[in-house]
Amino acid sequence: MTHLTRRAFLAVPPVALLVPVAGGAVRHEPTSVGDSHRGPAAIASLNGLRAAERAYALMQEGYDLADCVVQGVRIVEDDPNDTSVGLGGLPNEDGVVELDASVMHGPTHKCGSVASLRGIRNPAMVALEVLRRTDHCLIVGEGALRFARQMGFVEENLLTESTRLEWLKWRENMTKEDDRLDDDERDAPVGKTFVEPGKAAAMAGAAGPVKHHTGTVHCSVLTKAGDVSSCTSTSGLSWKIPGRVGDSPIVGAGNYCDNEVGCAGSTGRGEANLANLSAFLIVESMRRGMNPAAACLEAAKRVVANSKERRLKGPDGRVNFDLKFYALRKDGAYGAATLFPGGKLAVCDETGPHTIDALHVYDTPM
Ligand code: ASP
Repeated sequence: MTHLTRRAFLAVPPVALLVPVAGGAVRHEPTSVGDSHRGPAAIASLNGLRAAERAYALMQEGYDLADCVVQGVRIVEDDPNDTSVGLGGLPNEDGVVELDASVMHGPTHKCGSVASLRGIRNPAMVALEVLRRTDHCLIVGEGALRFARQMGFVEENLLTESTRLEWLKWRENMTKEDDRLDDDERDAPVGKTFVEPGKAAAMAGAAGPVKHHTGTVHCSVLTKAGDVSSCTSTSGLSWKIPGRVGDSPIVGAGNYCDNEVGCAGSTGRGEANLANLSAFLIVESMRRGMNPAAACLEAAKRVVANSKERRLKGPDGRVNFDLKFYALRKDGAYGAATLFPGGKLAVCDETGPHTIDALHVYDTPM
């Protein structure tokens, strides 16, 4: 295990479990409080605590587990204040919201995804229709929108006043070489400027530096019968090039489940995950006997090791982005890992909704 020889660089896990391996040797496996959990559970990214709670409740009511995760995620998609998903998600460089989502159903090992979907606030629900009503796994762009219309979804403007202004601020301040005036190039008005009723608060909220944002919601469930399902939904990287697809709709990257083993999902820099197919890696590590948090940490270390480009490193040599992994094993154990400290996993189980700490690769913040 490479992390044992790189301790000066990588975080020491809070507790290490000695796991017997072939030849009588032992390996040190980091553990987390979720390892000892057994039985039904729903897990989610931190912004999905309500999603986990909803998915867990629907599971108790006997809904198909793909509906449980999709309806859980839908709460976040419908929330205009979560700028990483669905309605109110931050737009692409043209100021248009483009959404990606995937859902995977353990009992049938089927998946459905949509990518670069415009104008529909619940891409995970469209992805579920791809899973249930087509022979395909992934439908993108205009085709995804036409499919969504055929499924009865209604188009709407997904940009809120607040995200429009945030995009505008980013666009105007991008370069002084274009014809849009930066904040510091505009003269102050002589007197009051007229502001449309209801828009003043959003204008004030758009102040401050504008950078690239990431964010996504992931939710996985495990039923009493030992079946699993998982879903990931996102508006992707803010200000992305139109048509850019992240890891969330790519099965094996931002979302994966195998009914014999468990589920995994991710949030954070999709490009780093796409080059490492981490959700698949995590599930396969759990198949080999790893606990969920250790499997997530292994994937996080793989991402760090494979991030070789200079532009992705800070002055301290560490990577300059974060990526978070979440996993739920078929027996009910759950865990998460991130590159930098501070990450959490949202959980709903027999003890109700709560969060637990994620393991992390680096031991100090970015
Ligand atoms: N993983 C998402 C993507 O790259 C974004 C995020 O989670 O922040 O599209």
